[in-house]
Amino acid sequence: MAGAIKKVLLINPPSGLYRRDDRCQSRVEEQTVQVIFPPIDLAYLGAVAEECGAEARIVDYPAEGSGWENFILDITRFNPQMLIFDVTTATLSRDLLACRIAKEINPDIITAGKGDYLSIYGEQVLREHREIDLVFVRESEATLRELLTHGIDENIQGIMFRGEDEQVIVTEKRPFIKDLDALPFPARHLLNNELYRSPETNNKLTVVYGNRGCPAKCIFCPAGRMSGYKLRSRSPENVVRELEECVHKFGITEFLLHGDTFTMRKSWVIELCKRIVDAGLNIRWGCNSRVDTIDEERAEWLRNAGCWVVAFGVESGSQLMLDKMKKGATVEQAKKAVNICKRAGLRTHAFYIIGLPWETAETLQQTFELARELDTDFFDINIAYPLPGTEFFEIAKRDNLLVSANALADGSYARAAVRTYELSAEELTLWRRQALMRLYLRPHYIFRTLMYAAESPRVIKNYLSYASSRIRHLIFG
Ligand code: SF4
Repeated sequence: MAGAIKKVLLINPPSGLYRRDDRCQSRVEEQTVQVIFPPIDLAYLGAVAEECGAEARIVDYPAEGSGWENFILDITRFNPQMLIFDVTTATLSRDLLACRIAKEINPDIITAGKGDYLSIYGEQVLREHREIDLVFVRESEATLRELLTHGIDENIQGIMFRGEDEQVIVTEKRPFIKDLDALPFPARHLLNNELYRSPETNNKLTVVYGNRGCPAKCIFCPAGRMSGYKLRSRSPENVVRELEECVHKFGITEFLLHGDTFTMRKSWVIELCKRIVDAGLNIRWGCNSRVDTIDEERAEWLRNAGCWVVAFGVESGSQLMLDKMKKGATVEQAKKAVNICKRAGLRTHAFYIIGLPWETAETLQQTFELARELDTDFFDINIAYPLPGTEFFEIAKRDNLLVSANALADGSYARAAVRTYELSAEELTLWRRQALMRLYLRPHYIFRTLMYAAESPRVIKNYLSYASSRIRHLIFG
């Protein structure tokens, strides 16, 4: 299909400000903590492209607040031979506009998409949309390296593409990368690091991935399918070297240390924390955890190493719902996990999910009660969004729970795309809004949050500005 590819443009298309993680595809404005994370997946690909001798550029249009006019300028001026773009399920049709525009300007450009949706429906998308040439299936770093080294052909694992005779070719699945240390560090010099800031302190912030894969099988989550059901971790030494690079080369001191299940392997987390302490890095970071993969020792080490907040997928206050969604965790474990963190001096962020098929008024109330009892510093209530390829999506389709033919594009984590066996989509959407308002407006919660923020006028200003935008969003939608 192509000669040597010497210029690659990697983009988040100007189709809305979303988190474009495969397992989290929410609109930024719908989250309690409205943080814009840098597109580290694109930065990994940028690093691979450079290692292959190509010139790479990354543009995150939604984060920059720039639109299609800028994209047209970039395609015209940079004149890449390959365009790689990230999609979300909700924005796919708008994301594809990038391919149409790019092809109009340069009919020979290779347009290649990545993301959870394309990993599943890539074949169909390629058939229906001639403007897209190629789709990456699951992890794409090793695939891009081969594409840039050998060109596009059917021996490259992990792609779908349109062949010479217009037939869509689906190649063999690519095994997951075994040695994550072998990956180059994300090409942060290609990112505009100024765009990504801690919503609290306004300092530069980035994401460092410690591991990939998750053995759990929560029915709403594509993590295992996209990254494997086996946990693969980078060596703590390798992670610390990347942190050092961020601090010394890019002046970044705030981090989200992320992984599908970051705290799962106890010895790994503790070793990582020890190395962060030994490196003398004066950094501030948060991480995510399952409620059953934290204990006193891990919490102490997290705190010692500069972690200040831990986020948990608590999901529900109903054990029945936790069992139905195959969370593999209990309400009691959630209570214990949050208490452990509080005692260790860590702040906590709980994520709840409502609207899975078995949800009732009673299970919603149980979730509300649990949110009140846990009383975490931050919390989000997301409405279950049926990402294609998940068991939840299959159930929603089978039982006619999607609210319309266009539910995936119209719905979001704040506006139900589904109903449950007992509750309508409207009831779910309204319940979420009211529950969040009641939780935010608890006097002791406001007081505690302001006391925390009072440490610095800048933090107070940021908290107030986010609080007002949040309340506005909940009232006016
Ligand atoms: S624990 Fe569940 S929600 Fe979290 S990454 Fe694993 S499968 Fe996804």
